[in-house]
Amino acid sequence: MLGRYFFITFRYLWSAAAVLILAGGTAWSIDLHLPDRSFQGDMVVGQVTPGSALWVNGTPWTTGPRGHFILGVPRDLKRDLLVKARSKNETTSHTIQILKYDWHVQHIDGLAKNYVNPGKNERTRIEADRQKIGSVRRAQPYVLPFFLKKGFIMPVKGRISGIFGSQRVLNGEPRSPHSGLDIAAPLGTPAISPADGVIRLVVEDSFLMGNVLMIDHGLGVSSIFIHLDSVVVSEGDLVHQGDVVVRVGQTGRATGPHLHWGVSVGSIPVDPMRLIGKKFIRPIR
Ligand SMILES: [Zn+2]
Repeated sequence: MLGRYFFITFRYLWSAAAVLILAGGTAWSIDLHLPDRSFQGDMVVGQVTPGSALWVNGTPWTTGPRGHFILGVPRDLKRDLLVKARSKNETTSHTIQILKYDWHVQHIDGLAKNYVNPGKNERTRIEADRQKIGSVRRAQPYVLPFFLKKGFIMPVKGRISGIFGSQRVLNGEPRSPHSGLDIAAPLGTPAISPADGVIRLVVEDSFLMGNVLMIDHGLGVSSIFIHLDSVVVSEGDLVHQGDVVVRVGQTGRATGPHLHWGVSVGSIPVDPMRLIGKKFIRPIR
């Protein structure tokens, strides 16, 4: 009888000690994992204690179920990013120093005049396409961290004919920077999904982009493939990394067959090349 009493007491004390250790230690403290420095055009994966509230330069930020969150560093950002987190009554913050990237200039000549200086009808089409893609991006559910485990691979093999962020000079006229990576490949070459995801949008015959595919990789991150010859998947399809999704083409404003692959965090384009082979998951206590 006495032995049993001691046993129960011992068990109770053990649990009480465990609770005290947790309360004073890690269980109630807040963790925030982020790099100290990033370049313009980077995609940054952070992790915070799940359930924390988060702000980036004062703007409330959404986190995934395990506390993951993604930041896109704009190409021309010239200030640092201050990330603040709050969990229960505790707050913490972290500053990411943003480093300047050495952007290239790319000259493209021989484009049809209406692709460099589009007329009124063409501008209306361009704006409608832009609106459509924007609204699909905004409607993406945030909580599917498809890409975190396996990361990204190249969607097609070929010569890199255009890199992200280059200042574009079209027929001698300066235009917006290039928002993706161009990979030259023969017409009809199959291209694969660079990461797991859901097909969110298929657009046929847009003025600048031709045939378009958009893949939602979760946590606000999406891929866009443009100038396609054809799309072999449908909106709503779940795709895995390595699944064939399109065939390379030269529809829209293109001077030869190539795949334009863009990656965005929300509406901010980031450099796809820097994602290849990168490991994103960091364990949190
Ligand atoms: Zn391109």
